[in-house]
Amino acid sequence: VEFIGSYAEDENAWPSEAVPEVAFLGRSNVGKSSMLNCLFGERAAKVRFVVSKTPGRTQLINIFSARGGAGGARELCRFADLPGYGYAKLAKEDMRAIEGFLMQYLERRAQLKLLILLVDARRDALDSDAEILDFAADMGVGFRVLVVATKVDKLSAMEAALNLARIRDGFGLPEELPLPFSAVTGQGRKEVWQYIREACEMDRRKQ
Ligand code: GDP
Repeated sequence: VEFIGSYAEDENAWPSEAVPEVAFLGRSNVGKSSMLNCLFGERAAKVRFVVSKTPGRTQLINIFSARGGAGGARELCRFADLPGYGYAKLAKEDMRAIEGFLMQYLERRAQLKLLILLVDARRDALDSDAEILDFAADMGVGFRVLVVATKVDKLSAMEAALNLARIRDGFGLPEELPLPFSAVTGQGRKEVWQYIREACEMDRRKQ
């Protein structure tokens, strides 16, 4: 996985190649960097630490490229690390600017095949996450949504089952979601990759 670049609101500057894209989204501190590290190894996420660890108006979308085949000759898919939202320290208008940017990406990015929304396994379903999900549902069939419950290692099996059911009810998710994940134990890593592989083989319907 290699870093391609950081992008702001100007869509003309976004990479235009027709390579399937998987986007990662979640509130600050939900465990997104840890999950990226767990999925891709330390190197990919290190680049991100430099460019987007500080919350603020200038949040950018960081795009990575995953290559495979002999000598990495073929580009398989791309990963978009979307700006975190829900920072307690941010002014309301800055928050709205970030949300607007996220919506713009979800609405306009034809390459997007799979949105991975991270929620903390210990928390209830939150309004801002529900808003993103509603918006994604309104977008129709263009991309799939995978809701992942992070940090499940912090819960006992019983607590995890209860909390995941509460999140499922809160968001109105199907039985198999949210997918339990832990960057510490690696639980869920294989399943996330399975979703990524399946989604990237899908053709996005023309809109
Ligand atoms: P980000 O702001 O969404 O990128 O969140 P980070 O990946 O930086 O994680 C926030 C905090 O949660 C850090 O202290 C991590 O060590 C911790 N964390 C993240 N994922 C896990 C996990 O799966 N298990 C545990 N126990 N802690 C985690």
